[in-house]
Amino acid sequence: AELWQSVPLAPPDSIFKLTATYKADTFPQKVNLGVGAYRDDDNKPWVLPVIKKATQILLNDDKLDHEYLPITGLPEFTSAAAKLILGANSPAIAEGRVSSVQTISGTGANHLGALFLSRFYGWDAEKKVYLSNPTWANHQAIFRNVGIEPVDYPYYDPTTIGLDYKGFIKSLETAPPRSVFLLHACAHNPTGVDPTQEQWKAIADVMLAKNHYAFFDCAYQGFASGDLDNDAWAVRHFVDRAVPMLVCQSFAKNAGLYGERVGALHVVAPSAEGANRVKSQLSVLQRSEISNPPSHGARLVSLVLNDPGLFEEWKRDIRTMAGRIIEMRKELHRLLTEELKNPRNWDHILNQIGMFSFTGISPDQSKALIEKAHIYLTANGRISMAGLNSHNVRYFAENLDKVTR
Ligand code: PLP
Repeated sequence: AELWQSVPLAPPDSIFKLTATYKADTFPQKVNLGVGAYRDDDNKPWVLPVIKKATQILLNDDKLDHEYLPITGLPEFTSAAAKLILGANSPAIAEGRVSSVQTISGTGANHLGALFLSRFYGWDAEKKVYLSNPTWANHQAIFRNVGIEPVDYPYYDPTTIGLDYKGFIKSLETAPPRSVFLLHACAHNPTGVDPTQEQWKAIADVMLAKNHYAFFDCAYQGFASGDLDNDAWAVRHFVDRAVPMLVCQSFAKNAGLYGERVGALHVVAPSAEGANRVKSQLSVLQRSEISNPPSHGARLVSLVLNDPGLFEEWKRDIRTMAGRIIEMRKELHRLLTEELKNPRNWDHILNQIGMFSFTGISPDQSKALIEKAHIYLTANGRISMAGLNSHNVRYFAENLDKVTR
């Protein structure tokens, strides 16, 4: 038989396919609500002004070269990134208990974290990870790739279009001790539904009682509420409470550096000695996978994080992005309820947080939006708020109104 004949043809990635269909559509009022990237009010990608400034600084620096970075990344980037997520005054950092490694954005951090756990967690039985139902579509594949079987925990309640808090807690209580739970640090993808601080505290209580491991994925720090510290609250609370944990960090969304692949993995250990052991093995794993991470994006983020002036400017840029998204939530809600007098309750659009909103519409209604109105969204009814702007929000609201009556 011909070589590769037994290779099954894989289906295209659904999100990337949606984007391709949108691009091929010639309808003038078409709308893309599938994309997980920020767009400005004219539906254009936005290079953050602070990143433009940092790029210029790098261009003017004659001392820079294209040598390899260390295996674990640019040290001034990883140390500043750790402070950003864990807090500038984090006792865990001061005590040397955090192992930080630069990764290929958030995806690479998830992969390296999963690979590390697969090798070294000291599994009592079968390797399993508990993932929220639903979750970012890539999580399943990332864990399966390293021999960890994904299992669902209840998260989203379609009847309330909110958190299935009871189901979540029950799953934490009934899972075997030392189970690994993946938690979205903020701005849950795809639902936009986050636990409240009180709920996070109760989740930490159960995780401690059962000695579970928290695998935090933080892809939207600052992007959710517009405030970096606010969006890191759950992660910092878990560190304070000494829940065993790691955190995956991405600068794709909050710095608009999608294609530059800037991220980090931070493993918080019980002691500095433990952290050293962890870091030594992360370094071994990283060496065989990517040798060393790319330098350009890490240099940009390092400049922004380590310069007080640039850092303040970045915070303003983040507030611009988060603010526009929050405005779109308000406007969509206003149009649906006040102007169009749609009979459904749309309060979840206001209460959800971050880039995405779960509208609560059915797969058939999503399909009708695509086919009748050229509005592209995933079948689960998730919309990217970043795809809405002052020019198309009314068109979207009118069509959403039509398909839900
Ligand atoms: N984790 C979640 C929940 C995400 O939504 C994303 C991006 O969509 C990522 C991780 C990783 O993205 P990246 O690899 O671009 O940083």
